[in-house]
Amino acid sequence: MSTKHITIIGAPIDLGSEQLGVEMGPDAIRAAGIIHTLKNLGFTIEDHGNIPVPNNGARVAGNPKVKYLEAVVQFSRVLAEVTTNAVKNNHIPLTIGGDHSAAIGTIAGVTNTKDDVGLIWIDAHPDANTPETTLTGNIHGMPLAISLGYGPKECLTLLQNQKPLDPRKVAVLGIKNPDQKELDLLKNLGVRVFTMREVIERGIAAVMNDALAIVHAPGRHLHVSVDLDVIDRADAPGVGIASRGGFNYREITYVTERIGETGTVGSLDLIELNPTRDLHNETAQLAVELAVSFLGARFTDYERYLEAQQP
Ligand code: MG
Ligand code: MG
Repeated sequence: MSTKHITIIGAPIDLGSEQLGVEMGPDAIRAAGIIHTLKNLGFTIEDHGNIPVPNNGARVAGNPKVKYLEAVVQFSRVLAEVTTNAVKNNHIPLTIGGDHSAAIGTIAGVTNTKDDVGLIWIDAHPDANTPETTLTGNIHGMPLAISLGYGPKECLTLLQNQKPLDPRKVAVLGIKNPDQKELDLLKNLGVRVFTMREVIERGIAAVMNDALAIVHAPGRHLHVSVDLDVIDRADAPGVGIASRGGFNYREITYVTERIGETGTVGSLDLIELNPTRDLHNETAQLAVELAVSFLGARFTDYERYLEAQQP
């Protein structure tokens, strides 16, 4: 395997969800050993540190249909610039959050410099609302719509060459709690949505075959955006919106392995970790394991055991 260069980007934003705690997600994932683990596996790592979140103290939401828009745009632009620079340098940006509004910046940064981009969105929620359809006004429910070109114009023009994704190269996986209008938008655009129900009915292997056929192609940049709330709360309690009925450990690690073995993950978001709800940082440790697996390597309990046996 040729050496992969990773740029870790901390995205400690909580304004997209109005939920305190997710801003500590990046540091919890660092505390779970992401840098040391990836280094030991042979990756080269650069830690960009955390992107500053503007006006975080004031908490004045502004427009109730799209809360904290100005601050989110300011944050997203910097995140997009850092992402685009990493991709241009042939690094894989690994963005750790923080709420899912971070994907506005990461995907903008990718499309700013790559023309052929596939996206797999792994989440219990499609995050495909717009200011017109949102029930909460929280921007973390809008990043997929924005990345497809629908949403506040300020978010669609963060960088000069930012482009909307091609809906034919986008797959959404693990959906359990969509709003009807989100599904309507995705259906109208022709985005393939794999719900948890479909996973149950057809099996995860068949679903992954279909999802990879949509997002993956030789030479195409693959962006993976993971909301950790797609995992059942029994295995991942430390997330923004914990719930039952999500992927169990065996399923999510199958998903990451299938994606990792393509060898084409060009950028990755691991999002919505909330350490205030976690138990012994276990969800952060799981995030590290998943990151490794998406990058085509392994760091499970067994490799942890072997590492602990080293003299
Ligand atoms: Mg979610
Ligand atoms: Mg999400």
